[in-house]
Amino acid sequence: MAACYQRFDPAAYLQYNYTPPRADFERKDSIVPWKLACLHRAFNEGDVTGELLVDVGSGPTLYQVLSGCEVFNKVLLTDFLEVNRQELRHWLQDEGCNLDWTPYLQHVCKLEGRRPSAWTEKAAKLRQVITDILPIDVHRPQPMALDALPSSGADCLVSCFCLESVSPDLAAFTRALGHIGRLLRPGGHLLLIGALGESYYFGGPGVKIPVVPLNEAQVCESLKESGYTLIRLEVYTLPQDMRVGVDDVTGVFFAKAKKD
Ligand code: SAM
Repeated sequence: MAACYQRFDPAAYLQYNYTPPRADFERKDSIVPWKLACLHRAFNEGDVTGELLVDVGSGPTLYQVLSGCEVFNKVLLTDFLEVNRQELRHWLQDEGCNLDWTPYLQHVCKLEGRRPSAWTEKAAKLRQVITDILPIDVHRPQPMALDALPSSGADCLVSCFCLESVSPDLAAFTRALGHIGRLLRPGGHLLLIGALGESYYFGGPGVKIPVVPLNEAQVCESLKESGYTLIRLEVYTLPQDMRVGVDDVTGVFFAKAKKD
């Protein structure tokens, strides 16, 4: 799988998945607003608390921490690829990046009941709480450098479209869930978003990356096997016009779970 990622192109990936129709904030049935609503709800139910949030396999994206950055004082972003960590550093240093995150910041402000113009405050908050952008490999039993996290582990993990798109089969997906669980304190929460029924996606022009196709039952079973208790599973089915030829995904799951 590592070889497949060598030609991953952050700019193309962002263009394929994080512009309309997949990120159309005027449409309730667009995929990105659905994901943002799931994350907003999960982070604001009062049970997800603590100091440190770790995003596993951030890629070149930030949407997944726009709600969590209001709850946690420290947020660590992680990815396997330097090109993705570089893209995130560009945003952090306000150096210009391949996607304008403003509509995302505005949309999450709206979900939080704030005026859309509060997006500049949210951007500043995000830049303040992101303390580092670090390498990770979910296939290793110890996915991050030993000194990257406090010995007790993170209070919460979020991970979106990472584990299934880096695992050759279901067994590897389940193992990876176990590996990242070691980064989490007992009783800490895992917010997991992923693809259903997907066998490939394009990480750039001609860069076809295999994915382990998952169904809902397999996600639930893998979580259980890897030491998590499922709190809630939500499922989104892709409308026909969101199937834009950059993958063969049929749905998306959102799981809120707790480490045993
Ligand atoms: N989280 C982002 C999102 O929601 O769009 C990116 C998901 S992208 C489909 C999969 C990510 O997994 C890529 O950023 C890739 O660099 C990363 N990745 C590849 N191999 C990995 C590994 N062994 N461990 C952790 N992440 C890996």
